[in-house]
Amino acid sequence: MSQRIKTAISGSLPKPAWLAEPEKLWAPWQLQGEALEQAKADAMRLAVDDQLRAGITVIGDGEQTRQHFVTTFIEHLSGVDFVNRKTVRIRNRYDADVPVVIDKVVRTKSVFVEDAKRLRKLTKGPIKFTLPGPMTMIDTLFDDYYKSREKLAWAFAEILNQEALELAAAGIDVVQFDEPAFNVFFDEVRDWGVKTLERAAQGLSCKSAVHICYGYGIEANIKWKQGLGEEWRQYEHVFPLLANSTIDQVSLECQNSRVPMELIAMLKGKDVMVGAIDVATSTVETPEQVADVLRRALKYVDVKHIHGCTNCGLVTMPRDIAAAKLQALAAGADLLSKELGLD
Ligand code: ZN
Repeated sequence: MSQRIKTAISGSLPKPAWLAEPEKLWAPWQLQGEALEQAKADAMRLAVDDQLRAGITVIGDGEQTRQHFVTTFIEHLSGVDFVNRKTVRIRNRYDADVPVVIDKVVRTKSVFVEDAKRLRKLTKGPIKFTLPGPMTMIDTLFDDYYKSREKLAWAFAEILNQEALELAAAGIDVVQFDEPAFNVFFDEVRDWGVKTLERAAQGLSCKSAVHICYGYGIEANIKWKQGLGEEWRQYEHVFPLLANSTIDQVSLECQNSRVPMELIAMLKGKDVMVGAIDVATSTVETPEQVADVLRRALKYVDVKHIHGCTNCGLVTMPRDIAAAKLQALAAGADLLSKELGLD
């Protein structure tokens, strides 16, 4: 097996304009019914093809079949009203119309398993599939039933575990839970956040991962980041807890961020997916810049635990820029691998 530094995307890629309006979160679908299902499948093939051509090693579906990384999952559950939405403030930053929990939440059928099976057929190499984490789910809806963030998180953790086990059985090699909320609600992360995440990943035969970032490159997040000061030390609250958890891999934001790299030393024993691609700028990184970020990470984490990754999802980027960023990511990891004599 190749010893080269592995690469992956954190989750989403832009959708083709014939599937959904480009460069927009929650973009409505352009088609309906059978035509929409066919278009989603076609878009997934293109997303996989872009990654394979770039030389990315762990392949994702680019989240082409979902409108949003959290609400699409929630909309498949019973106990949730997704017609009469309510406006909530997401992670204390921006308002969004979200589904409302009106009864006990239950997963009555698989959500993404057919997509996972389709992805499995598109490449023989390792594949990753993303799910929202319990805390980020409760932060992206209105709860009119449980009236307790913790209780609802445990309910979602059980549901996520059912889904994750089916994804692993469908041949997924890494199930990743997206928990940007871990960078905001530190007391809850300590009290029940990591525990509910572990519950979601319980019994998995494949690797488990968690993605914690500073959000998409949208205006509200860029403003929030400007107020975080010279050094971003949010990960300091979370990494020691994750180091002691059952989660195998941690995906984080590094390129153009003010996160001090030494914080990743706290993730001893875990695979660290180092964000080497900025999703908030259309400027395409050079392979040298990608290699630089990964090289800095090497000071604190053994090379066998380093993976090159994107800071966050690329859904809001223009497609040609995203494709170029994938190429830079793979080329940068290869550049450093050669320099280190890995083959
Ligand atoms: Zn992210």
